[in-house]
Amino acid sequence: MKQKTAPTPSPIERRGLVLILSSPSGAGKTTLTRNIANAGGWRLELSISVTTRERRPSEIDGRHYHFIDREAFEGLRARDDLLEWAEVHGNFYGTPRRAVEKTLAEGRDMIFDIDYQGTRQVRERLQDDVVTVFILPPSFSELRHRLERRAEDSPATIEKRLANARNEMQRWVEYDYVIVNDDLDESFRALESILAAERLKRVRRTGLAGFVDSMLAEPASLV
Ligand code: 5GP
Repeated sequence: MKQKTAPTPSPIERRGLVLILSSPSGAGKTTLTRNIANAGGWRLELSISVTTRERRPSEIDGRHYHFIDREAFEGLRARDDLLEWAEVHGNFYGTPRRAVEKTLAEGRDMIFDIDYQGTRQVRERLQDDVVTVFILPPSFSELRHRLERRAEDSPATIEKRLANARNEMQRWVEYDYVIVNDDLDESFRALESILAAERLKRVRRTGLAGFVDSMLAEPASLV
């Protein structure tokens, strides 16, 4: 009979992390979030929020958000089905809790595109497993141009978002990392560097102790 050998401890094994990106609307956070989630090599699961906001023409229900009404949102909140939630620009947004718990339990990492209020709540709940990145536009006028170029929101909505942007921008001090998004490719590379470094952090590396122990147990010499 073949003898069972103990599995070799893997140096790769580690706790899952949650990467949170926040910024004022139009700074490029949604593009960066989706680009890194879609770049298969990083194996990042994108958290799909629920929202009471109206769907934009380019958005797909279940892919960009789960679009729900106020009553359904209240129901999720009452049942503690949201990991965090916030009111942003007069609409409600929240992160479904179960999807996050399931993904992290499977040892996979997640990426969130949420505002500073939600970030605080997730930080409180998941503590050291959270890495936060704030995205700033290169200038305020560039932020306005980007929102106008997007042309998916009414002028009144754009004005509301710009007014809120001033408040949101001041939250950068609460974040672990800050990227000034002047050039999308450069910002993407910066985000990749953050993720790569955070994955290597000693505190996350649950597999390392066993790996080093087994290495030390090897005979020092082969002769
Ligand atoms: P938008 O309406 O432009 O898609 O998003 C507006 C703001 O809401 C953005 O700052 C976005 O990050 C934030 N947001 C999106 N989903 C969530 C969520 O689930 N929770 C929180 N707290 N903010 C969210």
